[in-house]
Amino acid sequence: MKIICIGRNYAEHAKELNNAVPESPVVFMKPSSALLVNNKPFYYPDFSQDIHHEGELVLRIGRHGKSIAPEHAWEYIDALAFGIDFTARDVQSQQKAKGLPWEIAKAFDSSAPISGFTPVDQFDPSRIELVLQKNGTKVQHGFSSDMLFSVPTILAYVSRYFRLLKGDLIYTGTPPGVGPVQSGDLLEGWLVNREGQQVSQLLCEIR
Ligand code: ZN
Repeated sequence: MKIICIGRNYAEHAKELNNAVPESPVVFMKPSSALLVNNKPFYYPDFSQDIHHEGELVLRIGRHGKSIAPEHAWEYIDALAFGIDFTARDVQSQQKAKGLPWEIAKAFDSSAPISGFTPVDQFDPSRIELVLQKNGTKVQHGFSSDMLFSVPTILAYVSRYFRLLKGDLIYTGTPPGVGPVQSGDLLEGWLVNREGQQVSQLLCEIR
């Protein structure tokens, strides 16, 4: 399986990092070894002093697709989850300054914590809510309706380049409020279903 990630997908987040609002989706990938499942703790890596949380809506692909038409995009998604796209912001800044790829800042081991999956039919696809708390305080809150590139647009775009396979994951970008984590922090994230219930809860302790 592969993990495809979308960067700068909320205007307010692009602004907080002083990035231009992109004309087409910014795409990068993480390997399957980046996944952190079952609410396991995250161990702060030795190559960074500035790991940031990016709470994100994650799509799970339910069937193979290539060059997917936007109007059929939701038929290719079988479940949603809450994920964190951990980012070594200091390393990413160095890479950006040199015009180099972001992988060592984004795709390292355990950089992709993920919750359990909730079937996609439990959500209002036009307005999926996500929340991230740090130590009990809400730090990120967003709605899929605020994305610069919608879920159908993302699927249409990425599937022109990458054949989507059953089980692939797409991290759809982070709303504003990203920030550093440190040892001892507890992150809690979740999605909200169409009944207003918290689902796909993720717990991630920083060690
Ligand atoms: Zn991200």
